[in-house]
This record gives sequence, structure tokens and C-alpha cells, in this order.
Amino acid sequence: MEFFGHVIDGRESAEGECAAAADSVDPWTRRPWARFPLGGEADAGRAVAAARRAFDTGPWPRMGFAERGAALHRLADLIEAHAGELGMADTHDMGKPLTQSRDADVPRAAANFRFFADHARLATAEVLPMDSGHHCYGRFEAAGVVAAIAPWNFPLMLASWKVAPALAWGNTVVLKPAEGSPASATLLARLALEAGLPPGVLNVLQGLGADAGAALTRDPRVDRITFTGSSRTGRAVAASAAAHLAPVSLELGGKGADLVFADADLGAAVDWAVKAAFSNAGQICLAGSRVLVQRPVYEEFTARFAQAAAAMTVGDPLAPKTQIGPLASEQHFRKVAGHLAEAGRGKGATVATGGLGEGWSVRPTVLTDVPADSPLWREEIFGPVVAVAPFDDEEQAVGAANDTPYGLNAMLFTGDLDRAHRVSAALRAGTVWVNCFFVRDLRAPFGGAGDSGVGREGGAFSREFFTEPKAVVMRIGADPRD
Ligand code: NAD
Repeated sequence: MEFFGHVIDGRESAEGECAAAADSVDPWTRRPWARFPLGGEADAGRAVAAARRAFDTGPWPRMGFAERGAALHRLADLIEAHAGELGMADTHDMGKPLTQSRDADVPRAAANFRFFADHARLATAEVLPMDSGHHCYGRFEAAGVVAAIAPWNFPLMLASWKVAPALAWGNTVVLKPAEGSPASATLLARLALEAGLPPGVLNVLQGLGADAGAALTRDPRVDRITFTGSSRTGRAVAASAAAHLAPVSLELGGKGADLVFADADLGAAVDWAVKAAFSNAGQICLAGSRVLVQRPVYEEFTARFAQAAAAMTVGDPLAPKTQIGPLASEQHFRKVAGHLAEAGRGKGATVATGGLGEGWSVRPTVLTDVPADSPLWREEIFGPVVAVAPFDDEEQAVGAANDTPYGLNAMLFTGDLDRAHRVSAALRAGTVWVNCFFVRDLRAPFGGAGDSGVGREGGAFSREFFTEPKAVVMRIGADPRD
């Protein structure tokens, strides 16, 4: 079995050198397919020290944007050239269909490196001519050592979303992938070395969140912490960062609402609702897991939606036709199965289609008649389980959509332009998609309100987070003392 080690200061650890190691279990075969180290305090300390040294005395932060950008483009080239291997790593680790990991996540990871390399190189800072005869101008200077903690649902893609802007702005990084998806992070660090990134610039620390992750976040030599994961862990990360005043960016959970108005193109609304609810087996922070449908089209929408859900192909992630693989781990499968059991316990929910599948799979599940106070309606299930409910008017729809502690995203489907703008403004969400879903512009702010997170990443928002902006005030006119 291949071993995916820590990569610290340009060197990958072998299994024999690690105090402890664990299996990564393929959730489709339910058998171990790889091993990785369980890092602890000492490994985290070594990784931060390497990143610190590379930042304080190494060439990376001192390079021009063009030279650094060229290295990141070389890394993007290598990511594209190794698409099969990287895709397979995520698919074995967490079960998503290879057609999604290799053909969507890997190209997007490469695109993240290209985008942030170019964005940093082309960015300009504001110049403020002052009446006093001074100019004030801004500089965006690298912040230092960045701890990037990633989840298992888009292992490579979400890691790159953090690592790419951090590196492009001249920081050095310690990346801690989730313990459920260790492989692609180590592969990424190997490719970074091949692309010519100096040792210590991109380090990978493997291990459990409570050990390796917590050790990273409390290390005072870390200057920025960017975290994507659950709201519960996000709170612990923020508390740990507060002790040494490290700014944090938190991209957390969601319970996205999908509003379908009677004037919408119903066929498009059904197609997008299927994508929003069931892509990645529903293991998406942005999942449209609450669908609110205006009463005149409620019956028709629900019937068509359930039919489309039932027609999806669930199965072997390596089979080209598979649309939904197993859930990412046994533990996660048990959590989602527990929610489904709740639906079956006669608390009012009706299962229109779906249920448990083979092994750790869950079939696309559509629930109706879910009480508004049920955990099925309120909690992030993070599986292919969606609740559909009717509404009568716009005000009621917006009220129901906003009735959640989360505020990550929402979708709305309507043919009425005025309504589209009005409802977009009224929804409490970091992103609102109108008549579409999951379309991203990497310049746009990405993040959420409330329990969905703190801060935004993307384009200039990533620059703000991964740099120390500085104001330089310079006299250019006569000396005011004259
Ligand atoms: P998680 O919070 O369990 O783990 C996320 C990461 O944090 C892992 O690397 C884990 O090892 C680490 N971790 C755990 N405890 C830690 C601690 N005490 N200190 C430091 N690090 C620690 O989340 P998960 O189950 O891996 O991911 C699923 C969650 O992520 C869902 O809630 C989902 O909505 C959210 N998510 C959010 C976004 C977003 O952009 N908003 C994107 C993807 C996933």
C-alpha cells in the first residue's frame, strides 16, 4: 500500500520514521488502500519551523510576482499532467466518482493556481493623493506562515483554494488535509517540489484534527489560519487562534435554500435542484438541501424532482456512468443513516424516493412533509437527502429560507426580473444563484454569514486575508513646515 507522508522542508517522511500511522479506507471497497502518518505536536512544530524559515530567510517571499507566478503556473501544469493520479487519490480516499474528481476537481485546482498567480501579479493598490501635499499608497505584503486546514469533501480542490492565494502573495504554508482524505495533499506537495517551489514553502502535515490540526492552530509562529470544515470545529479553531491573535478565515457549514417560484422554468429548476442537492452525494457545504416551492407548482415539481432523483446512477465511483458514489466514510454514513432513520420514525416526514443503498451508499432521497423544527429541516445532513416544502408568497419564502443559523448560499428560480433582484437582496447568504447553481467567478467573494463562517475568500478578498496591507504616506509637495 502506498504511504502518503508528511512533506516538511522539502522532504517526505517514510512510514518507518513516523511515530504512528493509519489506513485510509476506500469507502466503496470498504478496504484500506493507502497509509498516512498520524502527526502530532512535534510534527506540527517541525512543519511550522520549516515554513517560518522559508518565509523569514528563504527566496519565496522575496521573488517578484512574475517569478513566483511562473512557478505556480508550472505547478498547475503538473497538476493537469497528473490528473489521473490526483483524481484517483481523492476517489479512493472519499468515494466521489472519478469523472468528478479527475475531470472537474483537478482542473479547478489547476485553475485556482493559475488564477491567483495572475491575480497577484496584476493586482494594483490604491493611491490617495492628499490635499496636504502627500501621497498615500497601499502595499500588500505577505503575512507570513499560513496554516491551511482542509475538509474531505473536495480534498484537492479546497486545499488549492487556500494554498494558491497564500503562495501567490508570498506566504509559506502548512497544509493539514482531513484525516479522511490525506493522499492528494501529499501528491500536491510532491508536485510543488517538482515545479521548483523551494523547500519549506508548501509543507503538508498529516494527522487527526484534534492532534495535528489543533497543534497547528495554537502555534504562535502561525500568522494566518484558513479553515474549511464544520461550524463546530470552526469555533475551536477560532478560539485557538484568538490566543495568539492570528486572523482566521472560516468557511463552514450550510443549509442552503432553493426557492422555486411558480413563474420559473420548471424543467431548469428541477435539473438544477438535482445538481444542488445530490452532487458529490450531497457532501457539499453549498448543497440546496431545503427546496421551497410555490404552491401552484409544488405537486408537479416534487413529482418531477423525485423522478429525476430516482433515475440517478449510484454505485462504483470508478464506473464512468456513476453519478453518486458512497458516502466518504463509515462514520459519515452512520451519521446520514441516523438522519434517515429519523425520517422513518414517523415524525411526519414522507420519503418520496430514496433510502439506504449498497454498502455505505445512500440513494438520492427526497423528503416531504418535514416539520420546520425537525433536524432534517434544520441541521446540515451532508448527504444526498433533501427536504421539499411548499410556500404561498415571496415574503413567506424568504422568511423560511432565512430561518436558519447558516448563511452560506441560496438559489432562486424565477422568470420575473424584479423578483430576482428583490429576493437576492433579501436572502441572508454569502452567494445567491439566480436560475443556476455552482457557477463561480474566482474574483467574487466566497464565504458565509452566521454559522457558515467568518470572512470571505476569492480575488481581492483573498489578498486582504493573506497579506498585511500597509499604508505609506509620502510627502511629495512642499514641506508643510516651510
Ligand atoms: P471537520 O470540521 O470535521 O474537519 C475539517 C478539518 O479540520 C479536517 O482537516 C480536520 O482534521 C480538522 N480539525 C478537526 N478538529 C480540529 C481541531 N480541533 N483543530 C484544528 N483542526 C481540526 O469537517 P469535515 O467533516 O472534514 O468537513 C465537512 C464540513 O465542512 C461540513 O460542515 C461542510 O459544510 C464544511 N465545508 C464548508 C465549506 C465552505 O466553503 N463553507 C466547504 C466544504 C466543506
